[in-house]
Amino acid sequence: MSKNNKKPNKNNIYIIVLCIFLIVAVALVIALYFMNQNSDKKENIPYTQLIKDIEEDKIEKIEMTVGSTTLKLTYKERENEEDTETAIIPNTQVFMEYINEKKLAGSDIELEQKSSGFFSIISNNFLSIISTALMITIVVMIFKMQGLGDKGKVYDGVENKNKVTFEDVAGLDEEKQEMKEIVSFLKEPERFQKMGAKIPKGILLCGKPGTGKTLMARAIAGEADVPFISMSGSEFIEMFAGLGASRVRKLFEKAKKLAPCIIFIDEIDAIGSRRTNASGAESENNQTLNQLLVEMDGFETNDTIIVLAATNRPEMLDKALLRPGRFDRQITIAPPDLRGREEILKIYSKEKKFADNIDLKNIAEDTAGFTGAELANVLNEAAIIATVNKHDEIQEKDLEEAVKKVTVGLEKTSRVISDKDKKLTAYHEAGHAIVSRYLATSLDVKEISIIPRGVAGGYTMYKTNEDKFYISKTEMEERLVSLLGGRVAEKVALDEISTGASNDLEVATKLARDMIIVYGMSDKIGPISLKVDDPIELELYGHEIEDEVGKEIRRLLDTAYSRAMQILIANRDKLEAVANALLQKETITQEEFEEFFKV
Ligand code: ADP
Ligand code: ZN
Repeated sequence: MSKNNKKPNKNNIYIIVLCIFLIVAVALVIALYFMNQNSDKKENIPYTQLIKDIEEDKIEKIEMTVGSTTLKLTYKERENEEDTETAIIPNTQVFMEYINEKKLAGSDIELEQKSSGFFSIISNNFLSIISTALMITIVVMIFKMQGLGDKGKVYDGVENKNKVTFEDVAGLDEEKQEMKEIVSFLKEPERFQKMGAKIPKGILLCGKPGTGKTLMARAIAGEADVPFISMSGSEFIEMFAGLGASRVRKLFEKAKKLAPCIIFIDEIDAIGSRRTNASGAESENNQTLNQLLVEMDGFETNDTIIVLAATNRPEMLDKALLRPGRFDRQITIAPPDLRGREEILKIYSKEKKFADNIDLKNIAEDTAGFTGAELANVLNEAAIIATVNKHDEIQEKDLEEAVKKVTVGLEKTSRVISDKDKKLTAYHEAGHAIVSRYLATSLDVKEISIIPRGVAGGYTMYKTNEDKFYISKTEMEERLVSLLGGRVAEKVALDEISTGASNDLEVATKLARDMIIVYGMSDKIGPISLKVDDPIELELYGHEIEDEVGKEIRRLLDTAYSRAMQILIANRDKLEAVANALLQKETITQEEFEEFFKV
């Protein structure tokens, strides 16, 4: 049950009132600004000029009114009182420190601080007081409009009919096991407390989008029968200044009322990325993050609130977030392995009508690297394709088409392609396939086609039937060779190169780069990770290393290009044969492709 039932027409009224208010406010501020400007006899001197004058020791005395950023300056040369200037400084604290340093360094500059009466503060800061007041009013209005306290969506685990449990989460057995501990803590906190056990307050779930992080968090709430409050990091920062921080506060207030409960913060990197000392949107981010840190420290472990946060980029997070007592536990949720994929497919096939001969294991084999969300998507696409094809039930062919649609994009049968383009694509794809056929570590070719899909003019699909964790240097080098095979084939067969290889080049270049700077596979540069967060860190190793990286990337790519060239020149006849077959049939299967290599 959602506790978030605001009446929509009430919201509309607020929006209209707010708009009118905003227009009036803006008009007022503009009018005041001009009035203020006209009444000023003199313009403020720019801040840079002020600093320059101080550095050049031209200024005798600075008068500063407490609570104001406007300074009155008396210059040395000009005796006349009329000739005082004014300047506005961005930050009084910083400025005073600067002057103090000047004095310590021997400057005779005089800084007089006047505590001013209430009236002079008002008159000095009329404009800023007015605009601050306006801002506060606007923010209050927005708060009201949004019903801020109710912004966190509450899925009350007790009352929710579609309660999610661990049964709904396929695969991820170890992760579920680890989460069971959390579930029992939420159910019987006393048992743990008696034992003096400290249960983590915050758990960070890391993994690609769609791997089931939200699902897992929901399942914990469901298993423990506690409310689930969720919010996305991007929601915290989407609006006006100061709002993010107060949203965080409200979120935790609500959680304390509902405890025991789960707070889930999706995309925590949106608020939790490294704090900077920049201004504007960045500092808004910092405030939100600071508030989150305060809240995390503020509640006690016996509040029985567990905060789960999800991110795909844990390395981006501010280190303060990961300290003990905050998100000190990290669980990585990887895309499912073969068995996991089969289980997920099973869950989502329950509500669909399949032909009897369908083997979900086959599909699981063809979808290495797919996330849970993508698998669910494949089955849904298959159902759509089956319906469009007027089949009574989902057939093997529909499923295969769905996998291709999700991986390479939709088949574009309607696109008219010139014979010249077709020929180029045929050589290009044949090039990829033949080159990889001669590489020891390359995957088997599953299908080659010159029918355009998505943005690709054609494609070569490889069999992926193995879930791998490690990839060797040789494999990576050979992958470069097969990636460049397309471009090389164009050159060898047509003595011409085209834009068709741009994506191949992009992938190959990134791979070569990663080999060197991420995996430390370059003999020249050695086993070092140059994957730094801040380019400044690179300076540790000197500039030569950057030149060296560039050279090494080129060397890898050049070597791969020559190898592809050698293979295709030596097998020129095969290139012609496969390309011609593609021009005739448009698509070649694995078996048909293998025929060309039988002696
Ligand atoms: P994330 O939060 O990691 O981006 P979600 O939890 O929102 O991913 O997952 C998106 C959808 O994918 C889920 O609603 C669910 O339908 C499906 N899904 C992902 N992983 C699994 C899984 N392990 N078991 C069952 N369904 C899954
Ligand atoms: Zn290509």
